[in-house]
Amino acid sequence: MKVGFIGLGAMGRPMAKRLQNAGFDLFVHDLMPEAVGEMVSLGSVAKDNPAQIACEAEIICSSLPNSAILMEVATGKNGILSTMRPGTLLIDFSSVEPHLSRRLAEAVEAKGASMLDAPVSGGTAGAANGALTIMVGGRAEDLDKAMIILKQLGKKIIHVGDNGQGQAMKLVNNLLLGINMAAAAEALTLGRKLGLNPKIMLDTIAQSSGASYALTAKAEKFIFPGKFAPGFAVDLQYKDLELAVNAAKNLTVPLPMGNQAQQIFEVARAKDLGREDISSVVKLYEEAAKTKVRTQS
Ligand code: NAD
Repeated sequence: MKVGFIGLGAMGRPMAKRLQNAGFDLFVHDLMPEAVGEMVSLGSVAKDNPAQIACEAEIICSSLPNSAILMEVATGKNGILSTMRPGTLLIDFSSVEPHLSRRLAEAVEAKGASMLDAPVSGGTAGAANGALTIMVGGRAEDLDKAMIILKQLGKKIIHVGDNGQGQAMKLVNNLLLGINMAAAAEALTLGRKLGLNPKIMLDTIAQSSGASYALTAKAEKFIFPGKFAPGFAVDLQYKDLELAVNAAKNLTVPLPMGNQAQQIFEVARAKDLGREDISSVVKLYEEAAKTKVRTQS
């Protein structure tokens, strides 16, 4: 089966590799030659733009940073829609605004094709291991058709509802991730200042009521060794909090914790940490408290 993959970043590349290794005829596109080159070395065929991908592929996958880029890739000059054929399925793994995703699904349907929003959770490790949680919005029959791809990528594939509902679910999840990451960084820094050993703190909290994915996934791998290459970039977490904050404003839902968390990630961006992993917010607390949450210096 001919499959396209557009967006070969921290998530898209390991996902595309899994599809390549599963034996699909893979057509790939990204703005970064290095990302494309690596996929070509594994057997994928490089295409110059999304339109060339849509000429070939029966199923097109996308994993892009934000709504504006997704819309450009889909509806811009040499975009997917310019050559998309009836019967094609677009599976979008990006995290974007639910209403924009719905609007794109309508534009895709006008071409006689179909779309699923399928944002993911599980980080780069989940992408590499085929262990993602995939939150799907769209028609059940399109999900059936997509399963040949999704089963290579995810352990939990949840049909949340109609188009846009996968994105709504992801926005709610990542509101919690942003809040939990800032909270974990804050708590670890206080613990350090109280003289606690970082590893003992992690082992204890991981077995206690303060546990969260942000703590368990980020403390040992990122914060303790002081290695902050993403992972999940601060800029992307900021974008996801923006999606939640905007949705809440439109619906008159107070979001004091979410707004606070977004401001913490705003400070991180102002300190040029935008391309570092979300766990790098710990540096803000470390700087303020004049301590380091490290097991290695
Ligand atoms: P990334 O920035 O690492 O990758 C995005 C890729 O898209 C890059 O390779 C970039 O070159 C490419 N790109 C940008 N503009 C393009 C264009 N016009 N045409 C073609 N390619 C283009 O981002 P990521 O971490 O892989 O995240 C992708 C999506 O998945 C985001 O929406 C993010 O919020 C979501 N997500 C990320 C994680 C994570 O842990 N990194 C987890 C879950 C969901």
